Amino acid sequence: MNTTMRFGEKSLLAAALGLFALTGLATQPAAAEERAKDLFGAEKLPTATSAQSIGFYSKGCFAGGVAIPLDSPTWEVMRPSRNRRWGHPAMIALVEKLSRDAVADGWPGLLIGDIAQPRGGPMTTGHASHQIGLDADIWLTPMPSRPLSMAQRESMSATLMVDEKTHLVKDALWTPAHTALLKQAASYAEVERILVNPGIKKKLCDTVKGDRAWLRKIRPFWGHDYHFHMRIGCQPGSPNCKAQEATPDDDGCGKPLAWWFTQEPWRPNKNPDAPKARDLMTMANLPKECRAVLDAPGPASAEAATYHGDAVPVAVAAPEPEAPSLPATTVSGAGELPSAANAFAATPRMGAPVPRPRPSAK
Ligand SMILES: [Zn+2]
Repeated sequence: MNTTMRFGEKSLLAAALGLFALTGLATQPAAAEERAKDLFGAEKLPTATSAQSIGFYSKGCFAGGVAIPLDSPTWEVMRPSRNRRWGHPAMIALVEKLSRDAVADGWPGLLIGDIAQPRGGPMTTGHASHQIGLDADIWLTPMPSRPLSMAQRESMSATLMVDEKTHLVKDALWTPAHTALLKQAASYAEVERILVNPGIKKKLCDTVKGDRAWLRKIRPFWGHDYHFHMRIGCQPGSPNCKAQEATPDDDGCGKPLAWWFTQEPWRPNKNPDAPKARDLMTMANLPKECRAVLDAPGPASAEAATYHGDAVPVAVAAPEPEAPSLPATTVSGAGELPSAANAFAATPRMGAPVPRPRPSAK
């Protein structure tokens, strides 16, 4: 089945961006106060354009997203009602590849958590990042042998792999297959970072023998105790994608990891009610091109933009030559957020799993 987007549509975003460049400044003030998370959270479909990530993982959006199908023999999408199974085609292709490689390696299949909203941007709940289609959460719970119904995918709990008091991995739950899955994900050149709970990082540091170079990509972070978070780098055709700093060259098992096993990272947040960056961002905080992304036309249906692995990812096939390249300063957005707003501050616990960053005092 050919689900590649029609070529005629590819120029639409470029056209929208070009138009915006001429008229954008005049239209900015009226739109500036709208909460970006409400606007992006309301989008049901991606733009029907070539793929492009715009801005930074925690401050941006993306065009030309594709959806991963709800299931296949090697994966199942969890919490499908959230409609967060969208990503840059390179990200979706890689998740699919990981699922096949993992199954070949003995893992039963992937349970896929949040990737991104159809056009990215800040989310209505959860995650600080996942905004430019290059982040994906994958559960550390193996796919059950019997297919999960859509209702089960909404309600099934993930397995907490880490003791919340000691911050150490629960040894009864951790298996060599978990290690192999993370190693497989880290082996891909596109993958720049994999975020895991510090307890999981420590488990790997303590047990991985032989090749340890891949541990460099495994980064400890709050939460991430029932899933890991796979992040790929900026892809071709995304001149306004802002790369993240490279990880240090060592395995990260020394001092920086030891810090996580002190009191400091776990002290209650002094100001748990301080607003989160994602709750405050307006369109003025995002790169200007994100307005054009909101306004660009979408495909006829979600199915029309679902990736079935039978097409070269749009971004790879046709990097958009006319895409405007703006100076890096515009990427951080015109409006600065209050200093109390931290893109990585705690977010409220929801009924469904989301990353749990630094705990708040409660
Ligand atoms: Zn994540």
